[in-house]
Amino acid sequence: MPFTPYHFGPNAFFAFFFRRWIDIPVFILANVIVDVEVLFATGWSPHRYWHWHSLLIGAVIGIIWGLAAYPLRNLFKKIMKLLRIPYETNMKKMVISGVLGLWTHVIFDSIYHYDVQPFWPYTKNPLWKLGKLNLTQDQTKMICTLFMVAAILIYVSILQTYAKKKKVQDARQAAENRTS
Ligand SMILES: [Zn+2]
Repeated sequence: MPFTPYHFGPNAFFAFFFRRWIDIPVFILANVIVDVEVLFATGWSPHRYWHWHSLLIGAVIGIIWGLAAYPLRNLFKKIMKLLRIPYETNMKKMVISGVLGLWTHVIFDSIYHYDVQPFWPYTKNPLWKLGKLNLTQDQTKMICTLFMVAAILIYVSILQTYAKKKKVQDARQAAENRTS
């Protein structure tokens, strides 16, 4: 589904939780990029238009996105600095994050949309069964909101760590200025 907010709660949580191994901007933007397929789709099921919503083609798109994002790493670094989130990346991390971003999106969509084919060229969607747990839309929203809250809590703790580190650094700097 294009740009639906429900992806963002679980995604932000996943990205923040595994931030040591994941390139957060690459991971989160991968979720937006995959839905370009849906925007361009005409006529038949948008989730199967180019098969980006499958683990196989999704991995290819994720790798391409990770490589394409590599020249953007300094821009991402600036944005993350503004958000006060520590950011270290490299090409391998970006490619892995692109693939994981695509895959988590495909898996979530497969649970909620019967017409996604995550294991294409195999055409059945066994994950749709999970969607049939019959969560109401409100319950689904609730779960996504909880993920969002968890993500915000992690972000707050990142900000606290940042503030603490800055305090120590400032104190050290002040001490150095005094002695020199
Ligand atoms: Zn989608």
